[in-house]
Amino acid sequence: MPGVNYFKPVGIPLRALEEVCLTVEEAEAVRLKDIEGLEQEEGAEKMNISRPTFQRVLASARQKIANALLNGKAIRIHGGNFEMSPLRFRCANGHDWEVPLEVAPQMPSQVCPVCNEPSGEPLVPAGFGWGGRGQGRHRGRHGG
Ligand SMILES: [Zn+2]
Repeated sequence: MPGVNYFKPVGIPLRALEEVCLTVEEAEAVRLKDIEGLEQEEGAEKMNISRPTFQRVLASARQKIANALLNGKAIRIHGGNFEMSPLRFRCANGHDWEVPLEVAPQMPSQVCPVCNEPSGEPLVPAGFGWGGRGQGRHRGRHGG
């Protein structure tokens, strides 16, 4: 979560000020790639998105930032809802289970891990994924 969420050029009256809106994931992509100097591959992995998606988000972010800088526009970074809560599903027999948000779109129909009944709609509507939480979901695996 970026600490600063508004950037305003000096000397432009508020009523004349145009704004570009950067989403949190765009800001995060720029931060990972351009500030931390990660490769796209690594940045994508950190955000739990595919590399092409990361590239698209990054390109969009840079376009907006360049637009704001060169045209004297303000930049707003959307805060909002971007928790990494998993989606919950429930089958006809009342079993609940959770699916991580980042894999859910690839598996539209979920099957109950207990009784193999198909689920209905997820109980929690999908917002969008990556946020600050759950860092370091890396290779390491706990025994037990
Ligand atoms: Zn079930």
